[in-house]
Amino acid sequence: MYIRDMFASKKVVMSAEVFPPKKNGMLEGVIRALKEIKPLNPDYVSITYGANGSGGMTTADVASVVIDAFDMTAVAHMTAVNMTKELLEERLQMLMRKGVKSILTLRGDIAEDSRFYDFRHANELAAYISQKYPQFELLGACYPEGHPEAENLDADLEMIKLKTECGVSHLVTQLFFDNATFYSFADKAEKAGITATVSAGIMPITSVQQVERIVSMCGVQIPTKFSKICATYQGEDLYKAGIDYAIEQIRDLIDNGVKGIHLYTMNKGDVAKAVFNAFEEDRK
Ligand code: FAD
Repeated sequence: MYIRDMFASKKVVMSAEVFPPKKNGMLEGVIRALKEIKPLNPDYVSITYGANGSGGMTTADVASVVIDAFDMTAVAHMTAVNMTKELLEERLQMLMRKGVKSILTLRGDIAEDSRFYDFRHANELAAYISQKYPQFELLGACYPEGHPEAENLDADLEMIKLKTECGVSHLVTQLFFDNATFYSFADKAEKAGITATVSAGIMPITSVQQVERIVSMCGVQIPTKFSKICATYQGEDLYKAGIDYAIEQIRDLIDNGVKGIHLYTMNKGDVAKAVFNAFEEDRK
């Protein structure tokens, strides 16, 4: 089933993101997570693409496991960095063979040795795929606080609009901890004429190290309420408080009419379970 059909027919579309192993073949960790995620009945599972354009085969392998072994809908991430037309063609043929119907097109994070060949931005990847392979449904990323490299949110919104004009019909947000930021973004996106459906990306934080990593990687704002939690709790208590915070965030989003919730599970099945179970009734 395409994601667009889920948004047309379901009350709430709740998805889970997993990451593949760095090395080919070592799928045990992600399979363990998928075993815990399957009974939660996510509407779809998205599988990340390796940093700097690496690991596309592994993403496809995990997508295939999601579809064939677990009978769930898979969304494969795909990045423009280090991607040539020839490699993209290979990857797309492989995804088709494995039964993937939806692709999250991205630029990818850039490192010092990153190169761009035939594609520079996510919209270029989307334009190529939608023109040659219209059977794929395309998703894209967006950033409620604005992408860190964008001059400002308005400029970023123009680029997101361009992405949708190139074939992206659904957007998934970067994680955020303050719902007010998301509401303001959604409002501005609508005013900018962006009609794609949007899933709010939520990451339950369960350790202080995770917070530090997230802030340095994504540069997202940490609201005072959340930093107080991090300063007050440790260990098991922080784990529980982090999950409670994510549940509170999602509860508020759903109560305010947000239809799409995307959970960054970090392959932690127990965390996914605690969060999904809190919204069983909302998804009926
Ligand atoms: P783009 O849409 O290309 O935007 C990047 C910047 O360029 C923005 O500032 C934008 O305003 C600007 N821009 C966009 N288009 C143009 C244009 N045509 N001309 C000029 N400027 C433009 N990374 C991975 O490596 N693997 C993953 O699996 C992965 N999954 C992700 C999933 C989600 C939901 C999110 C939010 C991020 C993910 N990332 C992943 C990280 C992502 O690759 C980075 O955030 C990256 O910095 C930007 O990707 P993008 O697709 O948003 O890029």
